[in-house]
Amino acid sequence: MTSAFTATVLGSPRIGPRRELKKAVESYWAGNVDAAALESVGKDLRRQTWTELVDAGIDSVPVNTFSYYDQMLDTAVMLGALPERVAGIENDLDRYFAAARGTAQVTPLEMTKWFDTNYHYLVPEITSATAFTLHPAKVLGEIDEARALDVPARPVVIGPVTFLLLSKFENGSPLDRLDELVPLYADLLGRLADKGVDWVQIDEPALVADRTSTELAAARSVYDRLAALTHRPAILVASYFGDLGPALPMLVETGVEGIAVDLVAGSLDSVVATPGIERKHIVAGVVDGRNIWRNDLDGSLDDLETLRERTGSVAVSTSCSLLHVPYTLEGEDGLDRALGSWLAFGSEKIREVATLATALRAGRDAIADELTEAGAAAATRAADPRLHDDAIRGRLAALTATDRERIPAADRRVVQAAELSLPQLPTTTIGSYPQTTAIRVARAALRKGEIDQAEYERRMRGEIADVVALQEKLGLDVLVHGEPERNDMVQYFAEQLDGFFATANGWVQSYGSRCVRPPILFGDVRRRTPMTVDWISYAQSLTDKPVKGMLTGPVTILAWSFVRDDQPLAESADQVALAIRDETLDLEAAGTKVIQVDEPALRELLPLRKADQAAYLDWAVGAFRLATAGIADTTSIHTHLCYSEFGEVIGAIAGLDADVTSIEAARSHMEVLDDLNAVGFDLGVGPGVYDIHSPRVPSVDEIAASLRAALKAVPSERLWVNPDCGLKTRGPVEVEASLRNLVEAAQVVRAEI
Ligand code: GLN
Ligand code: ZN
Repeated sequence: MTSAFTATVLGSPRIGPRRELKKAVESYWAGNVDAAALESVGKDLRRQTWTELVDAGIDSVPVNTFSYYDQMLDTAVMLGALPERVAGIENDLDRYFAAARGTAQVTPLEMTKWFDTNYHYLVPEITSATAFTLHPAKVLGEIDEARALDVPARPVVIGPVTFLLLSKFENGSPLDRLDELVPLYADLLGRLADKGVDWVQIDEPALVADRTSTELAAARSVYDRLAALTHRPAILVASYFGDLGPALPMLVETGVEGIAVDLVAGSLDSVVATPGIERKHIVAGVVDGRNIWRNDLDGSLDDLETLRERTGSVAVSTSCSLLHVPYTLEGEDGLDRALGSWLAFGSEKIREVATLATALRAGRDAIADELTEAGAAAATRAADPRLHDDAIRGRLAALTATDRERIPAADRRVVQAAELSLPQLPTTTIGSYPQTTAIRVARAALRKGEIDQAEYERRMRGEIADVVALQEKLGLDVLVHGEPERNDMVQYFAEQLDGFFATANGWVQSYGSRCVRPPILFGDVRRRTPMTVDWISYAQSLTDKPVKGMLTGPVTILAWSFVRDDQPLAESADQVALAIRDETLDLEAAGTKVIQVDEPALRELLPLRKADQAAYLDWAVGAFRLATAGIADTTSIHTHLCYSEFGEVIGAIAGLDADVTSIEAARSHMEVLDDLNAVGFDLGVGPGVYDIHSPRVPSVDEIAASLRAALKAVPSERLWVNPDCGLKTRGPVEVEASLRNLVEAAQVVRAEI
């Protein structure tokens, strides 16, 4: 076998430690810098990334994990699989960005979540017209670049099985196209061998989800064929985000030299129990690539030693690409010493990998100091009072089933109708209104200390008054305050709850140039004071129409945070739910009659394997109900869901038992209503009647047509009229025009009932 490496990571973040790439691509899009300037930022970032890895002692460095937008899009380019509609765009970079973001003439590729993470990839579209051809310039170029810097480069590409299974097909099955891709990958491997590349990493994360025996057989045939090539580098098939299950013995039986396994989300036992594993180089993902906790070095070494006894050839690695964690803890000055010592971001994880590799080579004595430090940090973490709030734990222990139950929905509908006296087909919006320049200016001024909190609040109240006045003018029925005071729907709450820490610079790429800063849930969750009541009460004081209170649900708060790894997620969810429940009670006491609890991430946390899904949905629904079942029968609960295929969670949506569910449907043509009917859903529902992701103003006719279509599936007593998501990213002019049409369409259709 080619000499095996000992320490690596599966991939690196690329957005830049100071979000340099974000700034550069956005400047390029705005026409402020040229391609050469953008490329030079990319090149600098790659050099920094590789140098850090080499300096830390990583002896096989992943390259081609850089991307100007997304690695699935890069793979589509590599395989000649960009959609027909961008083919006419001459310039490579502009064609690439057109596929990613669209232009005035062409719609972009769809975007969806990468497995169970909050990273979004672009979904390649494969049609009968797609003629796959190999375009390896990017990967070959990055190898040359790395070589010139003496970097021991290991090119990374997404594998053919994952590429096809994650693409969208107009017709035919993904696997039918596999035979067209194998020769392209074979060609690529030959070219890598020409360059003297010793290892190539082929990512096949699709193999950690449930796969049919046909799919597994197809994957096996791909790797049999690639392994049979004589002129090629050693092949490392990389998996992450879970156990390979039956795909592991399948891969072991092929001639690939290495397999990367996720030992954080997956288990060691199944790896050591696999016959033939001793013939493979195992890249052991013991350092968590997705969460931010410091590694238990002792425990990892136990696992690594067990593996080494079975396989002989083991490399230490992260469980997945470091794309999913922030760059470094350095500069996080707001961390207290204890909390800081429990964490590891990207740079710290790279050092952990190197440390573990040293110990594996030279024994634990060689890392005595590191072991002592890690042990001390773990001890302070276990003993920290912030992790064990007896009052909160006592409240949770005392909960009974009735705390998660309301009276039957039909009975609630009667009392709530009397309370609100709304017209048929009531109109509403999802919560946020355009984030105006004035809002951004005020937030920046507050951060820089140019204005004080009182002045900031005065300005936000001004924004709220404008939004309420606009809704009154347009004639909407259930109003919102517009969420001007919220930087982000999760961070806003995390900043106000004990048990969460909000980082200063912990940015993680969400998609393209968009980054998020997930808060860290490290302790028991306690609500110090009401979080939203003043804002909502102020909005309500300006109008006689009902104003919806606006909260984020427990599942979404967890999904968009880094979560505790020292207790089941279900327990953390209930703690967050209690805090939200207390908030609903305070809102109600202040006179709020409608409270929306958003759960856009309900689908995102769904486990990849069927066998694990029921248990998840059970606690997720339970947490939502705990958050929402404390209020009076007369108070309406709304919820909002978006961004996903709801098929697998449709039963759970009914289980939430929200009085009204607004749901993204504008792009899925109301199919979601049929799905809801199929599970006996009989609550209020607002299928989004227009797509807020596009700046286009929908016409009255178009919205009315959507409503008529919806009325075929839902009786008028249960149908609500709303856009399909919040309006935060839209401009004020188009929002006003769109909502005017929405209200008019509702009137038109009401008259027809
Ligand atoms: N209430 C939020 C808003 O309107 C919901 C956002 C979301 O669905 N992601 O912005
Ligand atoms: Zn939404």
